[in-house]
Amino acid sequence: MVSRVIPVDPFDLIIFGGTGDLAQRKILPALYRRFCAGQWHEDARIIAAARAGHSAEDFRRMVAESLHRHAAVRASESQRVSRFLQRVDYVPLDAVSAEGWGLLGEKLSPNRVRAFYFSVGPNLFGPLAERVRAYDLATEDTRIVVEKPFGHDLGSARELNATLAAHFDESQIYRIDHYLGKETVQNLMAVRFGNMLFEPLWNSQYVDHIQITVAETVGIDGREEYYERAGAMRDMVQNHLMQLLCLIAMEPPAKFDPDAVRDEKLKVIRALDPVEPHHIVRGQFSAGPEGVGYRECVGNPRSTTESYVALKAHVSNWRWAGTPFYLRTGKRLVARSSVINVMFKDAPHSIFGEEAGRHANALSIRLQPNEGITLKVTIKEPGPGGMRLIDVPLDMSFAEALGPENQDPPDAYERLVMDVIRGNQTLFMRGDEVEAAWAWTDPIIAGWLARGDVPKPYDSGSTGPGDAELLMKRDGRRWQGIKP
Ligand code: NAD
Repeated sequence: MVSRVIPVDPFDLIIFGGTGDLAQRKILPALYRRFCAGQWHEDARIIAAARAGHSAEDFRRMVAESLHRHAAVRASESQRVSRFLQRVDYVPLDAVSAEGWGLLGEKLSPNRVRAFYFSVGPNLFGPLAERVRAYDLATEDTRIVVEKPFGHDLGSARELNATLAAHFDESQIYRIDHYLGKETVQNLMAVRFGNMLFEPLWNSQYVDHIQITVAETVGIDGREEYYERAGAMRDMVQNHLMQLLCLIAMEPPAKFDPDAVRDEKLKVIRALDPVEPHHIVRGQFSAGPEGVGYRECVGNPRSTTESYVALKAHVSNWRWAGTPFYLRTGKRLVARSSVINVMFKDAPHSIFGEEAGRHANALSIRLQPNEGITLKVTIKEPGPGGMRLIDVPLDMSFAEALGPENQDPPDAYERLVMDVIRGNQTLFMRGDEVEAAWAWTDPIIAGWLARGDVPKPYDSGSTGPGDAELLMKRDGRRWQGIKP
């Protein structure tokens, strides 16, 4: 099954911070792959802008190296890489002075989509937005793209929203949460709303609880300063896990339209109860075979920043009253695995008697690695030994079902950047969603500070602190394993 490539309109994509890590590691490789897929119009161009005084030729060399490193470019592709690089230009520019802005203006073409990607720290969003307007670079067809972190708390998120709103309409602002660009995350909506099978059961009458796990094996190398100020709650829960929770819990929107989808997600966030302190476990990794502990990493022997969070959340509405959502995420865990488990209730009465044991269906949606969906069903154990029941997976690995050409689904950035050019905001967070998520997160963090909470240590390479198991055990439940 060959996926269709629908070319996008001609565009000028301006990447502020084009020499930075994100641009070189993610954005430019993603653009190259879309170029190779034939999705670009022949007039489309990238103009990188950053503080460093490179020439365009130096910059192209830098991109070529990054493509080899991060886009698995083969030697046989050198001509294609050259054709791509012909579309790439560079302007030395300062976000906080007049330097470079006149030149950038001269390089832009009229009558095409203009997308300004702010791949810089959030302190530069305001100065950039202001100058894009002041130098009259914004046209009717202009969008801006901003990266996480979108604020540090509700106050700073509101300030950022107000800064951007002073220069751009909400319909022009694309706030990236790259989790939303993952193939399976969108499949979650297709599975829920495209099939008759699941939606009637998608409520507290049939669903016992839901588990959302985003486990990482990596630590915080290279991001120490940022992470020490953020912690897992701000870095992962407020955005990525919250977005996954929204997609699982939301009502079916009337249509698959950006604002209809985002309205439903917002209702979920607003329906979240405050989290009770005894429903949260914070952890911090200690030293292990993989390396030093968190405190050594950040050079702060008294750090109380969490690298792990597990919590129980409640969505207080008709659909979900009584069905808890258990969320957990952490660094340096036993495996890299992002998975959502929808755990159904037991059958109300077992005709097979006590000895058949307890069996319940579970739907697992794996986001990474090996994107796919598994439905665990109960069947009879084969053989003549009477009616014994076992649970087996009905596995739908997308790679297998869709054929080898779909083994490698596009990276989230490929989809998201093309959606920016198309002007489709469905997979981007709206300002009110971000603020609502902070309004739920802030009291949790404030509570930790007020109580002088110290995260529980956990071994690197483990599944997290033992208290996270207790959080489940107290409710007569247990976490699904963290498997690669
Ligand atoms: P970086 O420090 O590697 O790059 C920053 C870029 O900004 C450089 O190109 C630099 O020249 C440019 N810059 C800095 N000051 C400037 C100025 N005054 N005028 C013009 N350009 C200036 O940062 P990064 O890791 O690429 O991150 C960029 C943004 O993306 C940050 O907001 C970060 O939080 C976010 N982000 C990064 C990642 C990642 O994997 N790197 C992931 C998610 C979000």
